[in-house]
This record gives sequence, structure tokens and C-alpha cells, in this order.
Amino acid sequence: MQIDDLYQELIIDHGTEPRNCRVLENANHEFEGFNPLCGDKVHVYVLVENDIIRDVSFKNKGCAISTASASIMTEMLKGITIAQAHDIFKQFQHLLTSEEEPTESLGKLAALVGVRKFPSRVKCATLAWHTLQQALNAKDYHG
Ligand code: ZN
Repeated sequence: MQIDDLYQELIIDHGTEPRNCRVLENANHEFEGFNPLCGDKVHVYVLVENDIIRDVSFKNKGCAISTASASIMTEMLKGITIAQAHDIFKQFQHLLTSEEEPTESLGKLAALVGVRKFPSRVKCATLAWHTLQQALNAKDYHG
């Protein structure tokens, strides 16, 4: 199987059967993000304890790219620190705006590398991550 086919399958898989797509009742951070370019909307819920992301989920209405990206994001964040999450986001943004090959630390997010050929879709791929950052900065921080 070609790597492009593998990436394509991952996006279809996560885009049609997203993981962690639910309201997180005990979230202590949440935020709703919107991508006007495409019409994608995503609500991200996070439970943070001692700077560690204990649980994370999302509800959304959007294209397959934005759904797949949010789904993959939630899979990657559980159990890591906020600093590590910021770091992954930085690497992901760099991937989508450079010509470089994906690094191993990006995991399944590497599947979204193809969107960099379509600058308008980059916002679809990063929406959940921008929303996560805003959720973590939001004022309703109790953790
Ligand atoms: Zn979109």
C-alpha cells in the first residue's frame, strides 16, 4: 500500500467514525471554534488536572478533514501535559506550512499532510487545535 493511500484511509476512517465525539460532562475547559472559510464548527471539551489532559472530547459539524483532525487530536492528547499538547500543535502547524516530511512524533496527524497543497483546507485541519488552545486559555479554568 502506498503511503498516500494509507493517509487517505486514516482520514476516511476518522472522518466517518470519529473517536471521542461526545460531550464531556466533567470538562473544566471548553470552547467553540468556527472556520468561516468552510463552515466547520467544533466544540472542544477538556478535563485538565495538574497540567495533564485527563480526558478530551469534541462535538462538531464540519467537513471530513475537520472531523478527522479533531478525532485524531483527541486520541493523541489523553494523558499528556498541556506543554506537550502545545508542542504537537506547533509541529503540526509547521508541517502544514512547510515542505518537510512528517516527523514520527506527529503520529496519525501526518495523514493530514496533503492539505498543505490546498491552503484553504489548512484551516479545516487546524480548527480543532486552535479551539483546544482557546479552551485551555478560557477563563472557566478550575483545574
Ligand atoms: Zn472544512
